[in-house]
Amino acid sequence: MRTDLNFDIIKIMNTVKVSRVAEKKIKQGICVLDGADFTGLEWTDTEVNLISERGSFLGTAYLSQQNKGIGWLVSRESIDLEQPFFESILCQAKHKRQHFKDSTTTTAYRIFNQDGDGFGGLSIERYNDYAVFSWYNPFVYSIKEKIVEAFRVVYPEILGAYEKIRFKGLTYDSAHLYGQEAPDTFSILENGVTYQVFLNDGLMTGIFLDQHDVRASLVDGLAAGKTVLNMFSYTAAFSVAAAIGGASHTTSVDLAKRSRELSAAHFLANNLPMDRHQLVVMDVFDYFKYAKRHGLSFDVIVLDPPSFARNKKQTFSVAKDYHKLIAQSVEILSSGGIIIASTNASNVNPDRFKREIEKGLAGVKHQYLASHRLPSDFVYNKNDESSNYLKVFTIQVQK
Ligand code: SAH
Repeated sequence: MRTDLNFDIIKIMNTVKVSRVAEKKIKQGICVLDGADFTGLEWTDTEVNLISERGSFLGTAYLSQQNKGIGWLVSRESIDLEQPFFESILCQAKHKRQHFKDSTTTTAYRIFNQDGDGFGGLSIERYNDYAVFSWYNPFVYSIKEKIVEAFRVVYPEILGAYEKIRFKGLTYDSAHLYGQEAPDTFSILENGVTYQVFLNDGLMTGIFLDQHDVRASLVDGLAAGKTVLNMFSYTAAFSVAAAIGGASHTTSVDLAKRSRELSAAHFLANNLPMDRHQLVVMDVFDYFKYAKRHGLSFDVIVLDPPSFARNKKQTFSVAKDYHKLIAQSVEILSSGGIIIASTNASNVNPDRFKREIEKGLAGVKHQYLASHRLPSDFVYNKNDESSNYLKVFTIQVQK
């Protein structure tokens, strides 16, 4: 016999009262929770309700330590972080990327991007028929089954997936997650150019997808007939794009020994003979000296350093040292040459980056030809400019 008692399942959730500063940010739509705005937190790695000092509900969030912040606001509504919620945000994210899905010339792109797609701490990339999940903190990792189940409902066409662990504390950083295993290395396409990728070898995959648009500008002829120097080249993806776009010579410089073999694989995948493409394993600052000593000059120089780097001799940070890269580049740049200045440092906004560039140019006549931000598959949080982290300027320098 049915009783008339209705039992609602009430989820008991911890409640966190936030400071005025944090409340203001939440109301602005900033999702990352800054540790500096929270003191005396009793919990971590859990879902919480955020309330104002006066006790009004501000949103659903979760707490978990990661390199950026101590957690994420997920929604201004009261929601359950269960499979239906993830299905809904994954569906919306898929819908936004329809033109990538339909493309026959680009087969690798980001299909879910953190707070830009409604859930910070998670990103998912697609490489042909395989997906790569990045978990940025222990909480997201702890609920990964729900996320993966939701994903498999929304993306039945994905054959298999891998995971990357982007927080400290586990014994591994990359693993197979579900479904078919991908070959150790295989080819993807971007703007018709082939790149060799690997989905289960450390955190990297052989290509940084956020540079789609900059590589497109090179494929489209920015470096046609020109000599290109690609600094911090990793797998030389910019050089390959430039070569396909008609560059006469490319030189790729990276201090990681492995970069040489990975770069050669990208060139080979496009049937580009290596005779006009040089791969140099060297510190970029040593290469600048080498180039000056040998009287080398280049028509296009690409500068895309890590935000911070430390080697035996020195530390480098984009915020303080980028101007040195520009100044050194000007010395070995041909007359009328082009510098492609790029950074992904989220602590350096476009104005500050431009000031660094101007400092390096030190009054040398120049003109900004183009600028790039994140490509459209890297949907960012429009209310938080720092989530639109990529800044690239194409600058022509008259010497
Ligand atoms: N521009 C690359 C990505 C660069 S990742 C691309 O588009 O794919 C940063 C790279 O800088 C890494 O491969 C790292 O090995 C290299 N690196 C860091 N410090 C360096 C230095 N001082 N000299 C040369 N390479 C360096």
